[in-house]
Amino acid sequence: MTEESTKCLIIGSGPAGYTAAIYASRAGLNPILYQGVQPGGQLTITNDVENYPGYPEGIQGPQMMMEFQQQAERFGADIRTGMVTSVDFSGKTGKPHKAIIDDEHQITAYAIIIATGASAKWLGLPSEDRLNGKGVSACAVCDGFFYRNMDVAVVGGGDTACEEASYLSKLCNKVYMLVRGDAMRASKIMQKRVKEAENIEILWNTSTDEILGEQEVERVRLINNSTQEKSEIKVQGFFVAIGHQPNTAIFKDFLNLDESGYIQTIKGSSKTNIEGVFASGDAQDNVYRQAVTAAGTGCMAALDAERYLAGLGVH
Ligand code: NDP
Repeated sequence: MTEESTKCLIIGSGPAGYTAAIYASRAGLNPILYQGVQPGGQLTITNDVENYPGYPEGIQGPQMMMEFQQQAERFGADIRTGMVTSVDFSGKTGKPHKAIIDDEHQITAYAIIIATGASAKWLGLPSEDRLNGKGVSACAVCDGFFYRNMDVAVVGGGDTACEEASYLSKLCNKVYMLVRGDAMRASKIMQKRVKEAENIEILWNTSTDEILGEQEVERVRLINNSTQEKSEIKVQGFFVAIGHQPNTAIFKDFLNLDESGYIQTIKGSSKTNIEGVFASGDAQDNVYRQAVTAAGTGCMAALDAERYLAGLGVH
């Protein structure tokens, strides 16, 4: 195993990670950032970002993340591809922590900023797993193109599901929205958009019993949660949009997590229960989950890390 030491390690490359890198590099911490499995994070699988201040016309998610990265690199952040596969935060206070990259490279760092984000949740059906990539997807923007003029289903009733359904309605012949209850959790404006779209049909009180098809998605067997009645719809695409789970499994032996796995931070800061370890972005936020709030907490984490390192006398 190769070894390296640094003052500040940033794990993750969404708005939180890159913002932390911008601040940490400008503060002279020479941060190393590992991008993880999805460089740029969740915004790289989204479409137009219309709510990030400073882009009055909106911007494509992947483009925005490239600009974040370039801004961090401009100040000297060392941005690398690679995945942190394990960590060891058991060291004494004020001593460096350890992180292993791709099971082959060890980095010790006095300050570690976690910005690992969250990933899409799945229903957990065996057929969903079997047909993943063969009609089953969690990203309309990535895969919608393959279902042009076809019929598809979107599971969920939150903003993500509405956004996916709206996006797909412009490409596909027909979009079924499968909402398990009798109300949607999505914001009013998103609900209005899907309700007004001519080719979106909302099926209320509806869960997925099974996705059917041998080699690819052909039909979905539904169950009505009020009557327990089963029925089938013919679709070629099945999009799951039921929320996210934080990417925090590698930290669970060291950090305090809440019952859903989100890292708990000390109120009003990015500090975790381990000194020198700071958390930002969706990995610690199950409430706001916006690019702009993630960026804000990335900034907080870099400032907290800078003060921590100054206190230790690490320059
Ligand atoms: P949410 O947690 O808000 O919604 C999840 C949805 O999936 C709910 O309708 C939920 O149903 C349903 N669901 C959960 N589990 C299952 C299951 N096993 N089977 C069927 N349905 C299920 O997640 P989102 O990803 O939609 O949104 C997350 C956050 O991101 C929110 O704060 C949202 O506002 C924000 N967001 C904002 C956007 C924007 O402003 N453009 C775009 C996308 C997200 P139930 O209600 O019954 O629990």
